Amino acid sequence: MGVLISDELKDDPKLDACATTPSAHLKVGSPPGPHILKVQLALERLRPTGPKIDDAEKRAMRYGPTTAAAVLNYKKTHVPPIINTAYQHDVDPICGQMTIKAMDADLNGTPLSDRDAVADRAHEASRAALRVALTHLRSLRTDINLLPSSSDPAFGAAMVNLLFKHKRNIAVLARRLVLTPDPNSQAFKDALAKVILLCERNLAQAKTIKVAGTTGFCAGHPGDHARTSASVPDPKTHLCEIFFTNDGLDLQRDVITHEYFHIQGLGDNSVTNTAQAFTNANTIAQIVALLADRFRQRNSDGGEPAVPPLPAP
Ligand SMILES: [Zn+2]
Repeated sequence: MGVLISDELKDDPKLDACATTPSAHLKVGSPPGPHILKVQLALERLRPTGPKIDDAEKRAMRYGPTTAAAVLNYKKTHVPPIINTAYQHDVDPICGQMTIKAMDADLNGTPLSDRDAVADRAHEASRAALRVALTHLRSLRTDINLLPSSSDPAFGAAMVNLLFKHKRNIAVLARRLVLTPDPNSQAFKDALAKVILLCERNLAQAKTIKVAGTTGFCAGHPGDHARTSASVPDPKTHLCEIFFTNDGLDLQRDVITHEYFHIQGLGDNSVTNTAQAFTNANTIAQIVALLADRFRQRNSDGGEPAVPPLPAP
């Protein structure tokens, strides 16, 4: 048996070599072959909303620029990002040992029999997504605060830079919070401050999850992913059967984020204006997901496709 164990990647000498030998990494210019196609199909499976791999590259089984972009996206959006910190500061578009092993682990998943591990993984991924989202939100707040006065001749150019640098962040916030996408408006600044505070509080929440399945708060609620009560002693968030049997990795992550917003008092409400948006746990949870996943174009539960598409990355 080789090093890789997922159905998609196992028993391929070239991929096993990629997982064990630094010089066998795959990159633009690597010789084409069926092993490249396996990587391409695995990327599409793991990141269905990621950058599209060109059909011609797949037909030729070639590691071309769109394959490189999909690898780069996978490495950036992996939690934690795949960087060899021994010599790298940023993610590169090469599929090496860490990347192929991470893909293999993601494809293979954690056995469903180990529900505690599934719950822990989702909890950690939720915390990591909040940290990424907060990095973007705080950077946006800093850049808004650095804008010159609107009467200053330098304002126009500074604003153009800000709108470009934060195009996805601004679009996500404006659309989900029903705001005009003017980052210099008081309404936008107030909303940004509120989202940052909610995310900080969520991140500060001590771990409070229970593998409940069909028991606890989940009893009698077969359609629910999880149920939370803020007023009971820990654990306040009970993870229900379909969380373990149905939900993908991203959705499991975002369910935890969503439930922890319930602990802060947010509900499950419909949203038609900014005030309502701040009462709805899923609005803020999906903002976190859309900021952390820089190519995501719909909610992790499959709903609400972004029309028109959100800017990326
Ligand atoms: Zn809810």
